[in-house]
Amino acid sequence: MLDKPRRQFIKTSALGLSATTIAPSLFGKELGNSISKQRKLGVAIIGLSGYARSAIVPGLLEAEYCKLAGFVTGNPNGDKAQEFKVKYGIPDKNIYSYDNFEDIAENPDIDMVYIVLPNGLHAEYTIRAAKAGKHVMCEKPMEVSVAKGQTMIDACKKAGTLLQIGYRCRYDPFHKEMMRLSQEKVYGEVKLIESSFSFFGMNSDNWRFTNKSLSGGGPMMDVGIYCIQGARYTLDAEPIAVTARTYKTYMDKLPDMEETIVWEMEFASGAVASCNCSYAARNNHIHVSAEKGSFGIRDAFVAHGDLDGYVEDKKMSFPSKNKQAVQMDAFARNILDKTAVIASGEDGLQDLRIIEAIYKAADTGDRVLL
Ligand code: NAD
Repeated sequence: MLDKPRRQFIKTSALGLSATTIAPSLFGKELGNSISKQRKLGVAIIGLSGYARSAIVPGLLEAEYCKLAGFVTGNPNGDKAQEFKVKYGIPDKNIYSYDNFEDIAENPDIDMVYIVLPNGLHAEYTIRAAKAGKHVMCEKPMEVSVAKGQTMIDACKKAGTLLQIGYRCRYDPFHKEMMRLSQEKVYGEVKLIESSFSFFGMNSDNWRFTNKSLSGGGPMMDVGIYCIQGARYTLDAEPIAVTARTYKTYMDKLPDMEETIVWEMEFASGAVASCNCSYAARNNHIHVSAEKGSFGIRDAFVAHGDLDGYVEDKKMSFPSKNKQAVQMDAFARNILDKTAVIASGEDGLQDLRIIEAIYKAADTGDRVLL
């Protein structure tokens, strides 16, 4: 059975109109709110995690082109699921357990799933969702290894479904301005990028601090990945070599995972990104130095609250928008318009390649070529 967006595309194509022309009018304010609401793509969240409830659901409530339509959880009859169901008015027919999740294939209310599970479960649920014919929005990091990430791309390709990774900063106006300043060489060639994302997680027993098979590693997998992304999209280039070192001070915590990691990424242009992340410190910024000036963002990667961007000694200013709504709407439009996903599976896979190289560099002390 074709899913709703594909049926819509075929219908609009049959009229001899391109999807990119049709889609805006389907959602245009001139057609009124009722039609606009009817046409929103249905999203089923997989995993009622902390981030799903605190950020994704509020984002979906504000999104223009998609909406919360269902969810998949370990215990649909448990208190957490029941409370969630009542609060957001989700019908029983749109609630699934991890065991009967495949039945979602028959549900026309659900166009895409949003995977908000521990990192090491992303491939399993992406593959299951793709086989059920659903588009996949998957949280970062894509998975815990390049090999598992590749299976996600392959599954979505085979099923003809789209895959987006939860890199919300790619759609953020402050980050986009940083990309423009760098790539248009407004202050000349970018030579140095410094970026850090750290938070104190030593007192938590959450899976990301205790279970390497689910986390894939320490802060690098969870938050360092934002610094890698930030350097890559700012320069619109890929690193050619990396060096790295890890440190540990809480010896009984983070089994087989780093506590702090510092690394450098070299780019073909000669630019260098010097980055660090830690579960035992607090920091969150990206600073870009070009030949004739510098710019950056404080609180650059926060999921909630405002970013603080600057260009030399002036503040950047953009209207405040829900970050999750913006990224979900971008994906919904890719599905509706049949356009390329920006934060694609390939993009997620490239970060995993770089992370594997960084871990290798930290283990061996070598400069690792990419
Ligand atoms: P969490 O610990 O709050 O929730 C994990 C969810 O997975 C829970 O609903 C839990 O019941 C479920 N689950 C299913 N099987 C599990 C298992 N075997 N072990 C543990 N939990 C299991 O997780 P979180 O902090 O919301 O992170 C979920 C994903 O979202 C991660 O990939 C994380 O990197 C990502 N995330 C992204 C952002 C962002 O800003 N984009 C922010 C936070 C988290």
